[in-house]
Amino acid sequence: MKFDPATSLQDSLHLDGTKGVNPAISDSATFAFKSGEAMTACFEGKGDGFLYSRHWNPTNVELCNSLAAMEGTEKAWVTGSGMAAITSTILQICKSGDHLIASRTAYGGTYAFMLNWLPKYNIEVSFVDITNLDEVKACIQDNTKMIYTETMTNPMLQVADIPELRSIADAANILLVIDNTFTPMIVSPKLHGAHIVVYSMTKFINGKNDATAGAICGDAEFIDALIDVNDGTAMLLGPVLDTMRAASIYKNLFTLHIRMKQHSKNAMYLANKFNEIGLAVNYVGLEDHPYHATMKKIMNEGYGFGGMISIDLEKAELASKFMSKMQDAGVGYLAVSLGYYKTLFSNSGKSTSSEIPEDEQKKMGMSEGLVRYSVGLDNDMERTFNIMMEQLKELKLIS
Ligand code: PLP
Repeated sequence: MKFDPATSLQDSLHLDGTKGVNPAISDSATFAFKSGEAMTACFEGKGDGFLYSRHWNPTNVELCNSLAAMEGTEKAWVTGSGMAAITSTILQICKSGDHLIASRTAYGGTYAFMLNWLPKYNIEVSFVDITNLDEVKACIQDNTKMIYTETMTNPMLQVADIPELRSIADAANILLVIDNTFTPMIVSPKLHGAHIVVYSMTKFINGKNDATAGAICGDAEFIDALIDVNDGTAMLLGPVLDTMRAASIYKNLFTLHIRMKQHSKNAMYLANKFNEIGLAVNYVGLEDHPYHATMKKIMNEGYGFGGMISIDLEKAELASKFMSKMQDAGVGYLAVSLGYYKTLFSNSGKSTSSEIPEDEQKKMGMSEGLVRYSVGLDNDMERTFNIMMEQLKELKLIS
């Protein structure tokens, strides 16, 4: 039977016996036990009950069960930001003396963590073009522990061939970790071989830009190890998501499929229009996009190609002028981040990828005039596009 993330999510029922259709917000950091024996059993990982909210709590369990259902993983665990999910996962897998292989085009914070922070703890990173499988293979060393990439990379919109990367990981007996932040529901990385899927839920999953949050989805063994009271990275570094936020994100999760479809529809419209007027546009839904075929191979049916699109205006100054004009005209906001109901735009090289040194930006093919859009949920995209056309004409970027 075909896996459908939205249907799987829909089937993840919340029944807690209190008759509320939404999970109750657990307002306790600690939990009482009936007896000392029951407390000891809980600490030993036996018996039921919650020991402390940094570990598990009833609200986060609800959100995690739903996320696991959506991803097709055994378990999930939620964090206070996407970076918390990413760093906890990496530090759970890699210790001093280990090595990992990572996509050169990735979110700037992830890149900075790998470039500047991991070496302080003697963890070595090889940055590669993740679409060049020979390069990935060539980087495997005896101490390599994982391959890390985003499904659709930020901001270059390359698409990782997850099944092929899994084959490489299997041959070396290492783990494949996928950040699926740009493509929730569109791609189910676990289905194609990812061992662990991480998210910034700050983006599409929550979709409201009112919280930072993250998630780690994987098998029970990995999630349990992550929150082991003795040596679990997440348990001991303590990045747990607050229950208030977990409850609000839970509610937003159940409209994700509708939002993803509209983001995709609007982005496809915009990409075709930008193409028609001769702008250099990068959208994986366009048939001549270099990773269109890879995307088709791994995408779930019915959710489109996602809401992320970019255009290249070549010069940072022009990008800046265009973005200000778009904001003033009501197209959306000149802001970093993505997955919001309004369109957001930013110049990646000067913002979310500014941590990446300029020569590396050149290596990954990032132009200083790149404008990245997270296309919003506009009901009339033609109207929005026409506003942009006026701005482009004023700047003489089109005639
Ligand atoms: N992963 C990707 C692909 C991102 O774009 C971001 C943030 O922009 C993150 C992870 C980090 O997430 P957060 O800001 O929630 O820590």
